[in-house]
Amino acid sequence: GKRAGEEEKAVNVQVALRCRPLNKKEQLTGEECVISCNETKKEVKVVASSEKAASTIKKSQTKSFLFDKVFGMEATQEEVYESVCKPIVEEVLNGYNCTVFAYGQTGTGKTHTMEGQRDEKDGLTFDISNTKDLKRKCPPSAGVIPRAIRHIFHYLQDIQAEYTVRVSYLELYNEQLTDLLGIDGNEVDLRIYEDPQKGTFVAGLEEVPVRSEEEIFSILEKSAVKRRTAETLMNKYSSRSHSIFSITIHIKESTPEGEDLLKVGKLNLVDLAGSENIGRSGAQNMRAREAGNINQSLLTLGRVITSLVEHHPHIPYRDSKLTRLLQESLGGRNKTCIIATVCPGVSSLDETLSTLDYACRAK
Ligand code: ADP
Ligand code: MG
Repeated sequence: GKRAGEEEKAVNVQVALRCRPLNKKEQLTGEECVISCNETKKEVKVVASSEKAASTIKKSQTKSFLFDKVFGMEATQEEVYESVCKPIVEEVLNGYNCTVFAYGQTGTGKTHTMEGQRDEKDGLTFDISNTKDLKRKCPPSAGVIPRAIRHIFHYLQDIQAEYTVRVSYLELYNEQLTDLLGIDGNEVDLRIYEDPQKGTFVAGLEEVPVRSEEEIFSILEKSAVKRRTAETLMNKYSSRSHSIFSITIHIKESTPEGEDLLKVGKLNLVDLAGSENIGRSGAQNMRAREAGNINQSLLTLGRVITSLVEHHPHIPYRDSKLTRLLQESLGGRNKTCIIATVCPGVSSLDETLSTLDYACRAK
């Protein structure tokens, strides 16, 4: 059996790898696939699909990588949700704080995985506000955020308890916080505070009550408007910013003895800045301040996760805003999942290898 203390030492960080298909443009230009995913073996390999590809891949690059879960090009949004996110949401409904990260190079499917597919005009491809059917099924292109909301409401509607569900949506660009659901004029440069009672909190952050699962789609659209404004004002905003969507659930149950039992769970769904912003390629070309800061949150997150996985006594949460914000949701009994995203093309191989390395180290 398990000895006391072993439970605490359990590693609560899971790493999944998702490879997107080639897009239309890549298909037209004859981009070659060099990533092969074996979902059963949970293994990702670099393989040459032709002599030409073979000549560009160095021997040292034909490594294989193991993960807790692997999703190949054909994997659906529903499969990703059911297999990695659903168990995490169940933990949250039991009163824990959990976090799902999307990590990867820009253009590999982080936002697609977290929010869902958008069309060329940046509209969600699943406007379902008048779909009666939603109660039974999420649109196929919907990502983790709408699926988690739907799952939570289905659970809550089935239990005999009072509950509230609130969401917030923060963006962190250049170590500055913007509230994507904030009231105009009040949403920029929010501050983080630490309170002995409340824990870490963001002053002035809008926490929007959600009454039904359908409301989430208008919330996502509202946040997209604010994000588009930020995009026009700030350089490479979407690849350099982290977005943190949080769902807080309060459940008031009564015990068989008639006492009230309050459970509070929080789920953070984090779409990280493009991983090209750390190290090598990208960093040198950027303005120092911006580069430095993005490195700060992404690099610190890497260190925090490594320290947690290796059970270090000191976890450097305080070294970046992202890790300060998530401090109470990372580590201990709280479950964390990283979905690392890659694309299969030979021209992105260097970045893909660095994502595979990073994600493997987080295990
Ligand atoms: P990121 O957020 O990592 O920069 P996006 O989520 O914006 O990347 O994805 C880039 C493009 O690739 C988008 O047009 C998106 O719809 C598409 N895409 C990403 N992942 C998939 C996938 N698994 N299946 C189909 N299309 C995808
Ligand atoms: Mg994105």
